[in-house]
Amino acid sequence: MDPKLLDILVCPLCKGELQHHQAEQELICKPCKLAFPIQNGIPVMLEDEARSLTEEAG
Ligand SMILES: [Zn+2]
Repeated sequence: MDPKLLDILVCPLCKGELQHHQAEQELICKPCKLAFPIQNGIPVMLEDEARSLTEEAG
């Protein structure tokens, strides 16, 4: 992923900084506990597409 792109990307909800998790190909917003997927190098900054980090098994 383009580091410059990562630089300008913010969370669509809280406008906070995102953490790039390369292994998972996700952009993480810690305050919102959301992980936005990166599909084919394109970050999908949609709340509907984001994975909730609070989801626990069970
Ligand atoms: Zn956020």
